[in-house]
Amino acid sequence: AKAAGRGCWSLYSEEMGERSRRRLAIEEGLRHAIERGQIQVHWQPKVDLAQWEIVGAEALIRWSHPELGRVGPDEFIPIAEQCGLIDGLGHWVLEEACRAAVNELQGLTISVNVSAMQIQFGHFLEDLKTLLQRYQLAPQRLELEVTESVILDDPDQALAMLHAIRETGVRLALDDFGTGYSSLSYLRCFPFDTLKIDRSFITELLTRQDAQAIVRMITELAITLSKRTVCEGVETAEQLNAICATGCNEVQGYLISAPVPLSAFPRSLPERPSV
Ligand code: C2E
Ligand code: CA
Ligand code: CA
Ligand code: CA
Repeated sequence: AKAAGRGCWSLYSEEMGERSRRRLAIEEGLRHAIERGQIQVHWQPKVDLAQWEIVGAEALIRWSHPELGRVGPDEFIPIAEQCGLIDGLGHWVLEEACRAAVNELQGLTISVNVSAMQIQFGHFLEDLKTLLQRYQLAPQRLELEVTESVILDDPDQALAMLHAIRETGVRLALDDFGTGYSSLSYLRCFPFDTLKIDRSFITELLTRQDAQAIVRMITELAITLSKRTVCEGVETAEQLNAICATGCNEVQGYLISAPVPLSAFPRSLPERPSV
């Protein structure tokens, strides 16, 4: 029993060691990832359902670590936030987005994910204005995607900050909508232009009645509040059809295109799939 106990312990500690080594490697790697050219932005098209036309592109960050290989943003963004690197990383993505907006992605609305922490830095607003000016980018071409974590920390401060951002003309989207705790009063007070319905609802759209009802309810609510809706994670023609019936404005997902480098960004769409 003693030996087994020790065996368990050593397995456990090895796993812990493995995990903290990975975390440390990510933290260390992140410090120099930009200057070493390991970070890239991939772009996923956003399609307007009424026109069946690409109207926008979402910037999604990609990192290839020399030893760890591809590390996903779901893993490294929280680490960047914890060790004070999100500011630099976020600024870099925002600048890449402005650059692409006035070059390869002319005519499209450009969406950039920003973390709650990034917005809370005092200089965020100034940086944003500086970039718009430097790239001569019309503010309405840029949309910032935030999750409701931005609201939860300090709703009053967030409200003031989001209004200040919205006043520049830059648009705001509430990402992962439906997954958290957002109350309806937030939707009324906060200056969001767009609600992005979380992928989990789209995944269950054809298999669960409640998912369908929720998507329909969100789009109806959005129409009432004069906001646009985007469904993310659309993978099949059947899902697309079901979404069309709800009155949602835009879709994104592997059905149309995965996020790709600028050089592979689709110029036009295939025929609208029918089922
Ligand atoms: P998100 O903003 O909700 O992005 C959607 C995620 O779903 C992306 O994962 C995208 O690649 C993936 N996706 C798109 N279409 C489909 C589909 O049809 N099926 C499936 N299964 N997945 C799909 P990704 O690129 O790994 O990003 C994960 C999260 O990391 C993002 O979630 C966002 O919260 C965060 N993130 C990504 N780039 C940035 C960034 O530049 N800054 C910040 N702060 N966060 C970022
Ligand atoms: Ca997003
Ligand atoms: Ca999302
Ligand atoms: Ca997400």
